[in-house]
Amino acid sequence: MTDTIALVTGANKGIGREIVAQLAARGMTVLLAGRNPELVEPAAADLGVRPVILDVTDDASVAAAAKLVEAEHGRLDVLVNNAGITGGRGNDVASVQKVYDTNVFGVMRMTDAFAPLLRRSAHPRIVNVSSTVGSLGFMGSPDNQLPFLLGYPTSKTALNAVTIQYARELGKEGIKVNAVCPGFCATDLNNFRGHRTPAQGAEIAVAMATIGDDGPNGGFFDENGPVAW
Ligand code: NDP
Repeated sequence: MTDTIALVTGANKGIGREIVAQLAARGMTVLLAGRNPELVEPAAADLGVRPVILDVTDDASVAAAAKLVEAEHGRLDVLVNNAGITGGRGNDVASVQKVYDTNVFGVMRMTDAFAPLLRRSAHPRIVNVSSTVGSLGFMGSPDNQLPFLLGYPTSKTALNAVTIQYARELGKEGIKVNAVCPGFCATDLNNFRGHRTPAQGAEIAVAMATIGDDGPNGGFFDENGPVAW
């Protein structure tokens, strides 16, 4: 894996940072991407990887990052779309739009901008960090005791659908696209209430980033295997 170039979004902390650490431990060249240079640069220095400043809600910023990766590496092998926000409790359109702009359209921006570089890879992989709270099976079941919220859970449902659509299209060119759920991990996202560590949450993303050419495409996985849509 020494010749593998990977980029992880939202990687200055939490699960993304652990995904970077685990991919780097496998010998990959990892680009730690995030929106705030003051957070991204020290995180990258700590892990001994390259920082990339990139805001997934900003077309120009994503395009500039793709250009930089092209200039420095000529291609991308692994894209992990990890950046995500909960967006708080608002159920008005503006609040929901804001969540979708990161969790859904951010993934589309990244995928569209980096697809040309992924096409130059021998074994291209995209991993979208989703959540079981976006599973329609879970959402409609008695197990769902979460409060009424239109933003975060439905953004992950949409992300799962977007994952399938990209997988169908990009899969024709050998680019495998899968969604994963890291489980409930202690991070800023949930005020550290999660019962798993970010490192545990990172494992399924790393597993799907390193699947072989006989691996799945267009699936949704957690540590126990496929998750119901
Ligand atoms: P954190 O809040 O710890 O990290 C989120 C990361 O995303 C931060 O680096 C943040 O940057 C970054 N980010 C947010 N918006 C943008 C943006 N516009 N552009 C670039 N980066 C951005 O959360 P987690 O590590 O917990 O979450 C990672 C992923 O895992 C998310 O997609 C989340 O939905 C998913 N997930 C998490 C679960 C959990 O229990 N923690 C459970 C299921 C899924 P900054 O520091 O600048 O804000």
